[in-house]
Amino acid sequence: MRVTADRDTCTVSSLCVYRAPEVFDQDEDGHVVVLRPDPPEHLHPAVRDAARSCPTRSIRITEEE
Ligand code: SF4
Repeated sequence: MRVTADRDTCTVSSLCVYRAPEVFDQDEDGHVVVLRPDPPEHLHPAVRDAARSCPTRSIRITEEE
């Protein structure tokens, strides 16, 4: 899994940080920061949940074979 986030469309809702704090954080302006672009397997469900929860669809997940 590879995780990216679009800071241009992020609306500083904090939902992703709430759902997966090991993978997402926010900078001083509140915009999303991806801490772990290649999260370990046990965090994948939380990352998918965070991506689904993002109100602006700013989180992108690429599943690797
Ligand atoms: S859930 Fe989406 S809009 Fe909210 S902080 Fe995370 S990336 Fe930004």
